[in-house]
Amino acid sequence: MYFNPVEAMERSALEELQVDRLKDTLENAKNAPFYGTRLAGFNPADIQTVADITKLPFTTKDDLRSQYPYGLLTRPLDEFVRLHASSGTTGTPTAIFYTQKDLDSWADLMARCMYACGCRKSDVLQNMSGYGLFTGGLGIHYGSERLGMLTIPAGAGNTKRQIKLIRDFNVSILHIIPSFALYFAQKVQEEGFDPKDMPWRIALIGAEPHTEEVRQKIETMLNIKAYNSYGLSEMNGPGVAFECIHQNGMHVWEDAYIVEIINPETGDYVPEGEIGELVLTNLTREGMPIIRYRTRDLTRFIPGQCACGRTHRRIDRITGRADDMMILKGVNIYPMQIEQCLMTIPEVGQNYLIELVREGVSDQMTVKVEIKEEYFVEDMRILQGLQKKIAKNLCNEILLTPRVELCQHGSIPKTEGKAVRVIDRRDKD
Ligand code: AMP
Ligand code: ZN
Repeated sequence: MYFNPVEAMERSALEELQVDRLKDTLENAKNAPFYGTRLAGFNPADIQTVADITKLPFTTKDDLRSQYPYGLLTRPLDEFVRLHASSGTTGTPTAIFYTQKDLDSWADLMARCMYACGCRKSDVLQNMSGYGLFTGGLGIHYGSERLGMLTIPAGAGNTKRQIKLIRDFNVSILHIIPSFALYFAQKVQEEGFDPKDMPWRIALIGAEPHTEEVRQKIETMLNIKAYNSYGLSEMNGPGVAFECIHQNGMHVWEDAYIVEIINPETGDYVPEGEIGELVLTNLTREGMPIIRYRTRDLTRFIPGQCACGRTHRRIDRITGRADDMMILKGVNIYPMQIEQCLMTIPEVGQNYLIELVREGVSDQMTVKVEIKEEYFVEDMRILQGLQKKIAKNLCNEILLTPRVELCQHGSIPKTEGKAVRVIDRRDKD
């Protein structure tokens, strides 16, 4: 069994635990060159309540980059056993280091996540995400083994082999990135398998923003229950927050993280229940603790108690990143608004791509949309009607009319890792 009693602790006791761990974390963090300087004048004894965390400065991605590679390590390099890196495609990457103890506590957190959504020791998990520097590979892998599940490190891609492994070894749990899950579901149907005959029952999906509509599509197409999994390399990787069987927001493990939600402009807390930027602090990481990390991810606290009995607060699915916002003709648009709208249109298939270009002085958005095979007919009038319908629905959502390009199923390139949803070709000067 992997239910830790700390998950149902009274809030007051949980907060006391957080205060103690925060003080220890601050003492420890001062051993790192970066925090040694930044927290020089700060006395950890000044932390009396969790709210006192606001006395501490934020840490940003730029701080981490400026400290690349070793500036946040609290101990000599020979005490570390693992390195990962965040998936950022531009600029200096962020290197994340783990001691053996850090790997152990990360595996514990992951195992708790999986247990919370119904995975058990008797299950067989197939890890269909990429391995390598991406934390979703080894993070899920070690968590799954920690829970005692038979774990198959299949990696990403190669759908036919994935299906064979699943059938041969009675795989009951899939770990799969949502955009790949949609593609995979389509392939399963094309290969002539009925999802009802497959041994799976649970999909762990996460690592990239996706809408409730996409979750439901995955659940229907694969005949599976899909649970949202959130994490980021800077905070270990996956295992920060996870849905329980009630599928109503993700519990953040508050014995391991302090969670805050701020207005990204002012840095102040947003009113309870409103959307803002998620800020996280490690409480149990010895090698590379990070304090008040501005994730850029946008979410809100879900008010009230969860029916599962866990007292750790829940956050809503990530609606996007603060830096994902597109500004077009003065209108603020998030890719997830577009996804949400597209996924409610029955003719729309699995994949889409948003392209932004500058024409003269004005910006244009083209939304390329894959259409289900059966709707991709030869009659131009029907296709034009569909194109207009999609453009109109999008306009209702984002308040301007984009160009819509209908694409044949499978024609938009699909990457094996996190999906690229927006290509911005506007010159940045
Ligand atoms: P990385 O550390 O490179 O794996 O990227 C972490 C980022 O992936 C997070 O900061 C989020 O932007 C995104 N992410 C991870 N899990 C989720 C999720 N369940 N929903 C939405 N976005 C996610
Ligand atoms: Zn719950």
